[in-house]
Formats: sequence, C-alpha cells, structure tokens
Amino acid sequence: QHFPVVIVGAGPAGLTLGNILRAASVDCLVLETESRAFIEQRPRAGVLEEWAVRGLEQRGLAENLLARGQVHHECEFRFAGERHRFEYASLTGQHHFIYPQQFLVTDLVREYADVRGGAIRFGVRDVELHDLDSERPSVSYTDPGSGLRQVVRADVVAGCDGARGVSRAALPPGYARISRYDYGIGWLALLAEAPPSNDCVVFGMHPRGFAGHMARSPEVTRYYLECPPGDDPENWSQDRVWAELQERLGAAGAPRLTEGRLIEKRVLDMHSYVVEPMSYGRLFLAGDAAHLTAPIAAKGMNLALHDAFLLGDALVTFLTKGDSTGLDGYSRTSLARVWDYQEFSQWLSEVYHGVSSGDPHRAGTTQARLRRLFASPAAARAFAESYLGRA
Ligand code: FAD
Repeated sequence: QHFPVVIVGAGPAGLTLGNILRAASVDCLVLETESRAFIEQRPRAGVLEEWAVRGLEQRGLAENLLARGQVHHECEFRFAGERHRFEYASLTGQHHFIYPQQFLVTDLVREYADVRGGAIRFGVRDVELHDLDSERPSVSYTDPGSGLRQVVRADVVAGCDGARGVSRAALPPGYARISRYDYGIGWLALLAEAPPSNDCVVFGMHPRGFAGHMARSPEVTRYYLECPPGDDPENWSQDRVWAELQERLGAAGAPRLTEGRLIEKRVLDMHSYVVEPMSYGRLFLAGDAAHLTAPIAAKGMNLALHDAFLLGDALVTFLTKGDSTGLDGYSRTSLARVWDYQEFSQWLSEVYHGVSSGDPHRAGTTQARLRRLFASPAAARAFAESYLGRA
C-alpha cells in the first residue's frame, strides 16, 4: 500500500492536516490508536483564537464552530477580593471562540472521512516509523481487526500523535534539541456538570492558590485549581473542590458559583517542551508531538492548528508542484509562534501563581503586573495581543 502522506494521530493537528490534503486531492491515510467514538468525546481544550478560527473557515472547516461556538470579548481577573473586567476585544478587534475540542474533532473527522473521502484507521496498535531519512519512508502498524501487521509506504510522514505518541521518539538520539520547562506546580483540571457562573473566563489569584473558570458549553464548565504537583485527585472530594473554588474565585459582587457533579478530575503537572527542529528527513512533527504548552494560556490547540495550516499548505505545494520551499521553512515558521506562546505562558504563570507562592517578593511583583494591566493602556494592549495571539 502507498499513500503520499501518512498522518499518525487524529487530533486537531492530524485531522486538520488531512482535510487540507484531501481538499487538494492529495491522498493520505490517518492512523489513530483510539476509536472514533473515543476521540469524538475526549474533552480537553475549548478556547480558540480568532486567527485560528478564520484559518479553519478559509478551509471550509468552521461551519458548526461558527454556528454553535460562543464568542468571548473579555475576561475577568479576581484578586484581593475584587473583580476586574478586561475588555481585550475592544483593544485588538479580535475575539476568542469557545468550542469544546471534542466538538471540533467530531466536525473534522466527519468532514475528512465522510465528506472528503479520506482514509482513516482507528484502533491501530504498535505504530512504528521506518526509513525516515530516505525518500520512501514507511509506517507499520497492527490492524485491530485481523491482528496482522500492515506496512504503508509514503512520501511523507506527519507525526501528529500528541504528547505521548511515537513520532517524536522516532527522531534519532541527539538529532533534535528538546528543551523542557517545569513550572513546579500542579493544576487540578475539573469538568463540572454545571452551567458557567460568569459570562466570560475568570482568573482567580488567591493566597490559597490560583483558580480558573472557563466556559465550555451551557451544561458543562471547566475549572482549574492550583495544587501541589503530583497530587492525587482522590485528595479532592466534591465538597473540598467546591469549597476551594468558592473561596478562591469569590469577590465582592460576584455571584456564588453554580455547583454540579464533577465529571473529570485529574492533576496536570504543569510543564512545556519544544522540539527543534520539528522535522527529520521525511518526518514532520505537528502539534503536541512537537511542542507542549501547559494549558496556562490556553494555547495548545491553537498551535496545533497553526502547524496543520503551515504543514498542509507546504505539503500540497511540495506534492503537487515539487516545490519544497514551504516544507524547508516549516519548522522555523512554526517555532516562531511556539516560542512566542511559551514566553507568554511563563509570564502569565507568574501572574497566576505569584500571590500563592509564599514568597512576598513574587507576590508583590505579581500585584504590580496586575495593576499595570488596568492602569496602563500600552500594557493592556500588549497583554491583549499576546492573549489573543497575533493574527
Ligand atoms: P492530540 O489532540 O493529543 O491528538 C493526538 C492523537 O494521536 C490522539 O487522538 C491520540 O489518541 C493519537 N495517538 C497517540 N499515540 C498514537 C500512536 N502511537 N499512533 C497513532 N495515534 C496516536 N489548548 C488550547 O488551545 N486551549 C485550551 O483551552 C486548552 N485546554 C486544555 C485543557 C486540558 C485539560 C488539556 C490536557 C489540554 C488543553 N489544551 C488546550 C491543549 C490541547 O488539548 C492540545 O494542545 C491539543 O489536543 C493538541 O492537538 P494535537 O492534535 O497536537 O494532539
């Protein structure tokens, strides 16, 4: 079997890439370890930057998102018992879309497999990448139905298999620089069966720890609670979670949070990594396979889409016209935005966690950053630009 492109992983990066290739009549095969039902229900991100939505729209991939996604124009900081609204849309002319990741994945897989006729295999096992430094790389996997080993030859392999995939591990040892940054903090990531308790995202900076409120849908809301890294989610009973959220997100004039059953509760040890370069021979990494951004600034899915746009356009040009300019520049172009978002995430992390660090000096500088956001129009504009991502 031969496909011009084999895409490993059916997340936002892999499926967007597949759709771009199919729109240009480039054949590709997507290999995914999970089932279709599983990826269509896996809740993760939900905040999309406007440039990313417009990129999807231009490629015919945003119909449901534009019809059903919520549009957010502002966010709210709560600190020292007070609420501070931050109107980023009026500063940038851009806004955020709230659309749960599993809805986007559902749309993308439908469009790819059912509308554009793309090939996809779910439930594959033991994916391995071969001969990446040649012009005829291949990918092998165990077919879940027959249990037989399959080999697919390709011109290009796209590694879109997320943080725990096999593509990054296929880089020869010592070839790429992999830099990692540990924030030294944990976040308890929660999904509650409860409507949002505010009309926008809320960031709570509190001496007991950061807390975040992020709308997802009218029925489900994501919350975050800062906790020690490696903490056991079982330490967080339903009662304890809601007591901490009410305390840390409480502020004068803010209504109490609407509580509900917790349907997801897991501890994220906040860290980031970046792989440089993002390609090796005929392997191109995209999304979390190449760079992880701790969900501090809600950037990961946006970066995955950015990679898919760049790589998709570059592959179409390469495979239909033989022009490799886009592919040659892919890693460099992607990494410029990746590093920009990494830097902003570190900056924002200090804003979130300085007050609870136990270090009065860090608490003082954090408070200065927050005050500056509301006192200096230039600082506010700079923040808004980074928060929304430059178009
Ligand atoms: P994934 O979505 O991880 O997709 C990779 C796919 O590859 C998966 O389907 C996986 O099953 C499959 N796979 C894995 N191994 C193999 C293999 N060996 N062979 C074949 N397939 C394989 N980002 C934002 O932008 N905004 C947010 O608000 C936000 N919130 C988040 C909240 C949480 C709790 C988490 C965990 C993440 C959040 N993110 C957020 C990050 C975002 O979810 C990721 O950055 C995004 O999913 C990356 O997309 P991807 O396609 O690169 O990888």
